[in-house]
Amino acid sequence: MEYQLNPKIAGLEPYEPISGEYRIRLDANESYLPVPQEVREKMAEAMGNLAFNRYPDPFCKDLCEAFASYYEISPDLVTAGNGSDELISILMTAFLMKGEKILTIEPDFSMYRFYASLAEAECISLTKDTDLQINVDTVIEKSRQNAVRMVIFSNPCNPTGQGLSREEVRRLIASVDALVILDEAYMDFWDQSLLQEVGQYDNLVILRTCSKAVGSAAIRLGFAVANSTLTKAFRAVKSPYNVNAMTQRMGTYLFSCKKEMKNFQNQLLISRDMLYNGIKTLESTHPGRLCVYPTCTNFVFLKTNEAKCIYDYFLKNGVAIRIMGEYLRITAGDAQENNEVLRLLDEILKK
Ligand SMILES: *Cc1c(COP(=O)(O)O)cnc(C)c1O
Repeated sequence: MEYQLNPKIAGLEPYEPISGEYRIRLDANESYLPVPQEVREKMAEAMGNLAFNRYPDPFCKDLCEAFASYYEISPDLVTAGNGSDELISILMTAFLMKGEKILTIEPDFSMYRFYASLAEAECISLTKDTDLQINVDTVIEKSRQNAVRMVIFSNPCNPTGQGLSREEVRRLIASVDALVILDEAYMDFWDQSLLQEVGQYDNLVILRTCSKAVGSAAIRLGFAVANSTLTKAFRAVKSPYNVNAMTQRMGTYLFSCKKEMKNFQNQLLISRDMLYNGIKTLESTHPGRLCVYPTCTNFVFLKTNEAKCIYDYFLKNGVAIRIMGEYLRITAGDAQENNEVLRLLDEILKK
C-alpha cells in the first residue's frame, strides 16, 4: 500500500518568505520600528501573572473591546484571529461551499487564491489596468456574470500600494450579491476605512491586522469586523482557542495606547515619504528606467524592465526586497535603510 497526497496539495511547497540572511529586510511590509521599550516592559510584567494552565478566552472579550474602542465601533462586530491569514482561511473554508466562485483582482495579496484553492473554491480573476487601479464597474459586471459568492481585495492594495476611495467601495458593495471581503491591512496608513459603517451592510467583512501599522507581526493578530449575523457565524466556525493568551494581552494593551500608536504610525509615514520621494527623484534623473506608483501604504511599488537585475543587485548587497515579474515592492525602512536603497538603486541604474 502506498499513500498518495491528494492532487490539491501534492505539488505545494511550504511558504518561505525569503531564504538567506540579509542585513536589511524590506521584503515583507513589516514596520521597521520595533514596539517601544515601555510597552515591552509592561508586557513582560503582564506575562508574569497569566494563567498559563488555563485555556484563553475564546471570544477575546478584553481584546475586542480595546480594538473596538480604538476605532470607535461596537465590540459586538469584532472577531479576533491568529493573524488575518487565519481569518482569510476561515472565510474560504466556512463561508464558501466547494466549487463556489470567488473573484480576485490581480495583482493582489496572493494568500486569497491560495486559501481559495485549498477550500476548492473556483477562483475567477480580473486583471487591473496598467494604472493598477480597481475598475469598480468591471468588478460589478464580472461578479454578476459569473454569479460569484465572494469578492475579496485589499484596500489599500498589497502589492500595488493603490487605494480605492470609500465612495467607490460603497458602490461595489451595494451592487453585488456576493459577500465582499475588504482587507484593510494597510488602512492605518490611509483615511478611507469603512470600519465605521460596517454594521450597515449584510454582505461586508473588513479585515485588519497588527502585522503592519501596529508593528506586531510576531504576535499573529488580526480582526474580522462585520454585522452581528456574520460575526456570530464567524465565532461559531473558528477554532475555539485561536488566539493565545499572550497575544490577547499584548493586543489589549497595544490598542489602549492610542496616542503612542498614532505617533508610531506617523513615523512610519515619514519614512515612507522619504523612500517614495527619493525613488521619485531617481525616476526623473534616470528617465524611462522606472515607473513609480503613488502609494497609500508603508511601501513603494515600481515597474521596470530591469526588475530582475535590480533585485539581484540588492540581494548581492544584503538588501532583501520583493520582485513580482516586472515589478518591485520595497518596504519603507529607517532613514539609513532608505538611504541604502536609494544609493544602490542609483548605482545600478548608472551601470
Ligand atoms: C500582510 C498582509 C496580511 C497578513 O496579515 P497577518 O495578520 O500577518 O496574517 C493580510 N492582508 C494583506 C493585504 C497583507 O499585506
